[in-house]
Parts: sequence; structure tokens; C-alpha cells
Amino acid sequence: MTITLQNISMKFSNTTAVNQLNVTIPKGELVSILGPSGCGKSTTLYMLAGLYEPTDGAILFNGKDVTKLTPEKRGIGMVFQNYALYPHMTVLQNIMFPLKMHKVKKTEAKAKAIEMAKLVEIDHLLDRKPSMLSGGQQQRVAIARALVREPEILLLDEPLSNLDARLRLTMREEIRRIQQALKITTVFVTHDQEEALGISDHVLLMNQGELMQFDVPQNLYDEP
Ligand code: ADP
Ligand code: ADP
Repeated sequence: MTITLQNISMKFSNTTAVNQLNVTIPKGELVSILGPSGCGKSTTLYMLAGLYEPTDGAILFNGKDVTKLTPEKRGIGMVFQNYALYPHMTVLQNIMFPLKMHKVKKTEAKAKAIEMAKLVEIDHLLDRKPSMLSGGQQQRVAIARALVREPEILLLDEPLSNLDARLRLTMREEIRRIQQALKITTVFVTHDQEEALGISDHVLLMNQGELMQFDVPQNLYDEP
């Protein structure tokens, strides 16, 4: 999916969180949204997800206006900073859950969930509860769950920030591997410059709600 942000803004009562953002995210790419805390990264991601409706502008997926669509109707998968796994469910039940919600038959849902668990390399942990997993493993479960309905867009909100430095590098490479295996258009929010430069096809650099630069990592920070 190509994602087009057409002059989108998000104003809260007394803050302009995002101001007239205009950018196209090419199909099949991994694009990072990079910038300091409070610059509008999460707000932008939430607008892509349909969790916030922009106060101005439009969002297009493959040219189709999705601005008014609910998250469920957008064909996106999302991973949050804290993974948001269901603690009382096993790994398998967590991954199957979105399919269950959409009334997919149990045998089919289970087969699909196991396929996703294999992709993220946690198929040996299917019967465990999230509390019995490491941070990196929990994140793999969250990624599998986000992908199980075969979305065309994957949204990741600071997915590495709760991991230690070593795991952060491993999981960065894992996210890239999975993204390239599926060729899924992916938007990755981070405040970590090295992370953004290391993982992305393009970096969308924000400051105080505005787009500063959109470029390949090698050209970022060069004067235009
Ligand atoms: P980032 O993800 O880059 O840290 P955010 O998108 O979370 O930035 O926030 C951008 C700005 O909008 C900040 O000033 C933040 O306080 C404000 N903001 C974010 N969400 C809300 C909200 N729901 N209500 C009011 N202000 C908000
Ligand atoms: P991040 O770690 O991505 O910057 P935050 O911890 O700032 O996220 O925000 C977490 C949640 O709180 C988000 O849903 C965001 O929209 C909301 N939020 C952020 N700033 C404000 C604010 N000033 N007023 C109300 N809600 C806010």
C-alpha cells in the first residue's frame, strides 16, 4: 500500500500536535518517523491507524480516502510500545485473538496463528503465558498478532524502547527481516536516530509537529 498524507493536521484543545503534514510513503517500504519527544510522532501514527481523526487534511491508502474509516476497516496491524498482550491468554490464544474476533473458524485460525508464530520464531512457546516470556519474545508475539489477519500496513509505535541495548539490535534486525519477507508497508516510530537510520528505507524527520525532511538515510541532514 502506498500511504499518502495530504496536509494532515491534528489540533488538541490548546496544542497543534501535527501541522500540515504532506508526504507519501512508498509501497513496500519501511519508513521511520523520527524526532524528539512531543514532536507529533505518535499522533501521526494514531491518525494512520484511525485512532485519531485529523482535524484537517486527508489520508489515502493506494489513492483511496480512508480518513473516516475505523481502525478495523483500514487493513492495518499495530504494535504498541508496551506490546499490550492479554496476560491471561497463552501465546497461541493471543495470536489467534484477532481471527477469533472476526469469526474465523478455529482450525483455520489456529493454523494461521502457528504459521505467524513460525515467521517470528516463537512456535516453541505457544502454550506459555506472556509473563513467562522475555521482552523480545513478548514483542514477537505482539508482531505475530498484528500480522495474523494479513494487513497491508504495519504500524509500530516505539517497539524497541522497552528492550535492553543488545535485544534492541536483535529485534531491530528481526523487524526488518519480517518486513522484507512480507514486503509490507511499515511505519516505525522512534526517537532514536541510530535506530531510524539503521532500519529504514526512508526517514520522516519531524520537529514540533512539522515535517523537516523526508529522505533516504544516507541523505538525511544534508542541506537540500
Ligand atoms: P511524540 O510521539 O513525538 O512524543 P505526541 O504525538 O505524543 O509526540 O505528542 C505531540 C504533542 O501533542 C505533544 O505536545 C503532546 O503533549 C500533545 N498531545 C498528544 N496527544 C494529546 C492528547 N490526546 N490531548 C492533548 N494533547 C496531546
Ligand atoms: P509517547 O511515549 O509516544 O510520547 P505518551 O506517553 O506521551 O506517548 O502518550 C501516551 C498517550 O497519552 C497517548 O495516547 C497520547 O495521545 C496521550 N497524551 C500525550 N500527551 C497528552 C496530553 N498532553 N494530554 C492528553 N493526552 C496526552
